[in-house]
Amino acid sequence: MESKEAIKAGIFGVVVGDALGVPVEFTSRAERKADPVMDMREYGTHSQPKGTWSDDSSMMLATLDSIIENGGIRYDNIMEKFRNWRLNGDYTPHGRVFDIGITCSRAIARYRPGTDPLSCGECGERDNGNGSLMRIMPVSLYSCLDDEFWHDAMFEEAVEDAHNASKLTHGHPRSQIGCMIHTAICHELIYREGKSVLEAVQNAVSRTLDFYDKASEIYPWFNGAFSTEIKMDSYGRLSDLSVFMGLLDFEIKSSGYIVHTLEAAVWCLLNSDSFSDCVLKAVNLGDDTDTVGAVAGGLAGLAYGYENIPKDWLDVIVSKDWIEKLCDDFAYIMS
Ligand SMILES: [Mg+2]
Repeated sequence: MESKEAIKAGIFGVVVGDALGVPVEFTSRAERKADPVMDMREYGTHSQPKGTWSDDSSMMLATLDSIIENGGIRYDNIMEKFRNWRLNGDYTPHGRVFDIGITCSRAIARYRPGTDPLSCGECGERDNGNGSLMRIMPVSLYSCLDDEFWHDAMFEEAVEDAHNASKLTHGHPRSQIGCMIHTAICHELIYREGKSVLEAVQNAVSRTLDFYDKASEIYPWFNGAFSTEIKMDSYGRLSDLSVFMGLLDFEIKSSGYIVHTLEAAVWCLLNSDSFSDCVLKAVNLGDDTDTVGAVAGGLAGLAYGYENIPKDWLDVIVSKDWIEKLCDDFAYIMS
C-alpha cells in the first residue's frame, strides 16, 4: 500500500470507528446483540449528532497535527496540544470536550511548559487504560512507514517512540508495550503484499514479543518494572493467533483496559473480511465501544484500504475536509 493511502486509511479508520461507537458507549453486549449497530447513529450516550468523534480522535489528531507542525515528534508540543484540546476545545468536532479518560485528564493537568512530558503519565498497574493506545496511530505511522522497519536500529527507534508517546499519559510498561505492538501490526498490514491478514498480524506480534523477551540483556530502559511485566506475559493470548481468533465472543472483553482493547481489535480484525464487518463487530461487543471501534477501525483501514471504508460513513464525519488536509500534510512530510 502507498504511504499516502495508508495514512488516510489508518487515520480515517480510527475516526470512523470512534464515531460509530460514540452513540452506544458503555452499553452492554446484550443490548448490542438485541439492537446491533449497522450504520452511523446519532445522539445516544453522549447526545451528539451523527459523525461526531470523541477524545480518542481528538488526541490522535492533536498528535498528528503536532508531528506535521514540527516535522517530527516533539513530546512537549504534543502535550501542549492536548492541553489546548482539554482547556479550549481545540481538535473537537463541535468546539467542546464531552468525554475524557481519568488517566489522560490527570496527565494533562500535570503538564506545564517546562515539565518533563515523559513523566506526566501515571505508572501504576491500575493505570493501564486504553488511553495511549487509542491515540497512537500517527506515531505508529510515523515509525512504520519504512520497509527497513525490522532492521535493528530502526526498530529500536520505533520502540522508543511508541514507549515515549505512551508515557505522556500512560507510563506503565504494559501500556508502552501495547503501543509498540500496535506499531508493528500497522507496519505488517501496510507491507503485507501477498500475506494474509492473519500471517501479517502474527508476524508483527511474534517478532515484537520476541524483541521484549531478549531486551532485558541489552537495553538500559529495561528496568525492573519491564522485566516484571514481561514475566507476566500480559499479551500472551496474542502469541498464537490461529488459536486466539477461534475464541468465542464471551472470551473477548471490550473494556477500557488496554489488553482487552487490543485483543478485541485484533480478534475482530481476524474474524472479518472487510472494514465495515470488522468495525461493526468491534462496536457491537459493547462497553468501551468508541475506543474498541477506533483501534479496530485503524487496523481495518490498513488491512483493507481507504477505498473499503464506506463512503456514506466518511461523508458524515464532522470536519472531514480538515482531517483529509491533515492526512495530505502528513503524507507530504513523510515523503
Ligand atoms: Mg472516547
